[in-house]
Amino acid sequence: MEYSKLVEIYEKLAATTKKLEKTEIIANFIKNLDTENLQIVIPLLQGKIFLESEEREIGIADKLIIQSLTKLGFSKQEILDKFKETGDLGLVTEQLVKKKKQIALFKRKLSVEQVFYSIRELAELTGKSSQDKKLDIILELLNSAEPKEARYITRTILEELRLGIAEGILRDSIATAFNVGKEEVEYAYNLKTDFGLVAKIAKEEGKKGLKNVKLEIGYPIKVMLAEKAGSLKEALENAKEPAIEIKYDGMRTLVQKDKDKIWLFTRRLENVTKQFPDLVELCKKNIKSEKVILEGETVGIMNGKPVPFQELSRRIHRKYNIEEMAKKIPIQINFFDCLLVDGKQLLNENFGIRRKKLEGAIKEIKGKFQLAEQIRTKNIKEAEKFYNNALKSGQEGVMVKNLLAPYQPGKRVGYMYKVKPEEETLDLVITGAEWGQGRRANWLASFILSVRDEETGELLEIGKMGTGLTDELFKELTEKLKSLIVIEEENMVHIKPKIVVEVGYQELQKSPNYKSGFALRFPKLIRIREDKGIEEADTLERIKRLYNKK
Ligand code: AMP
Repeated sequence: MEYSKLVEIYEKLAATTKKLEKTEIIANFIKNLDTENLQIVIPLLQGKIFLESEEREIGIADKLIIQSLTKLGFSKQEILDKFKETGDLGLVTEQLVKKKKQIALFKRKLSVEQVFYSIRELAELTGKSSQDKKLDIILELLNSAEPKEARYITRTILEELRLGIAEGILRDSIATAFNVGKEEVEYAYNLKTDFGLVAKIAKEEGKKGLKNVKLEIGYPIKVMLAEKAGSLKEALENAKEPAIEIKYDGMRTLVQKDKDKIWLFTRRLENVTKQFPDLVELCKKNIKSEKVILEGETVGIMNGKPVPFQELSRRIHRKYNIEEMAKKIPIQINFFDCLLVDGKQLLNENFGIRRKKLEGAIKEIKGKFQLAEQIRTKNIKEAEKFYNNALKSGQEGVMVKNLLAPYQPGKRVGYMYKVKPEEETLDLVITGAEWGQGRRANWLASFILSVRDEETGELLEIGKMGTGLTDELFKELTEKLKSLIVIEEENMVHIKPKIVVEVGYQELQKSPNYKSGFALRFPKLIRIREDKGIEEADTLERIKRLYNKK
């Protein structure tokens, strides 16, 4: 299929902010595609060439795009000027390719396959001469592209499609296109986490196929989410038949075992098996069943006490010195759920039964490889005692779960509630920063925070944060953000939106100074949310709700 056909759809999608219209546009487009094209077009519509579980990133920096544009014959100054003007390298590429086309008329129609597989290839290339090869691939694409095509190719390469196609829109589009229920699409997606595959199932096997989707060892799933309770009392009432567990502050871990093979996934679907060889060993030795899927919270432990999540997070994306870090930050895992045992899926079983299966599935090593501590009571006094003890021992709070509830992948359905003594915090995206002064001259010292507009997919500024950071953290954030710098203007830098931070604040105000229309007074860093992607950052909707609640 010609790429230009997809570009037409991109253009239509860009022209509306309405979810329903976006859904219609996508549904009409995909319903007539054959299976092969469907599985290429769906990721391209999402601007996501790789699944999270593929552990691949395109990883092309703006610099390489700029370099490829200079190879097309434009001066770096002209490119940078245009970039400053538009803030979008996609638009810059479009304008420049348009200019070039007037000189050289070279036509070869691009296909969706070529674009998809060329971009995938960019991520496969490693080693010394890989930069040159990457440049060649980008140039080949841009040379064959019409101006509009060039815009979307560039944005896809940079993983910034900017079309606001959230998961919900894709789910609804697949449902409409293939005449199946949204719930069925969502159910299948939560277990398969691949919309391309789900669309294929919907097309070929319809409702029945979607309903028959099963948990599969070796693949991550969307885990069940917790609701926030206003108080312990409220949580106890809502949970009906409550079990109260410690809320450990660590990394949610989906542990899968098939005979002697172990997989570890995070809640963001990343495969972290390599990063936690110590946990893999523990699982191999101490999980009794042959085939299981368990869930637990992995916590960093030092001197018998949990360390802040920030410490543990240094292990999550590590590529080198893995063993060394494993020694430096030892872990403990606290298992709290069991989704499959001896090959039997337990999603529809109630939590009471799942916990029993969990207890039977592992050999506990206290303090290291254990069940999440749990009590069962409706008595508020007993619950409070448990809660206070949890806090005293350095834990985050408690989870209150309904023993009668099934497991609902990917949903926040009120089967478990979190209770913690915390002020309201926000998860925001860092979209810019300023270099520090004096002692902090080599660090980024002030960070621009943005919220997500769910309708448009845009990130809107809401404040600037410079406090709550230790020197260590300033360094760590600077390191993380340096490679994401898009453009520098004097001491200001624009940052590619990738990093989510949890932020506390004193007050939320209306403000004309920021694009979101709101401003945070005294925002303070609580932690970097390694476990969240920008699509999980807080939305403008939530900000409005919080403001109105004031
Ligand atoms: P939050 O990230 O604040 O929404 O809180 C929910 C998270 O708490 C889950 O995603 C888990 O990572 C974590 N957690 C810690 N202890 C437990 C537990 N006992 N049961 C379920 N989740 C837990």
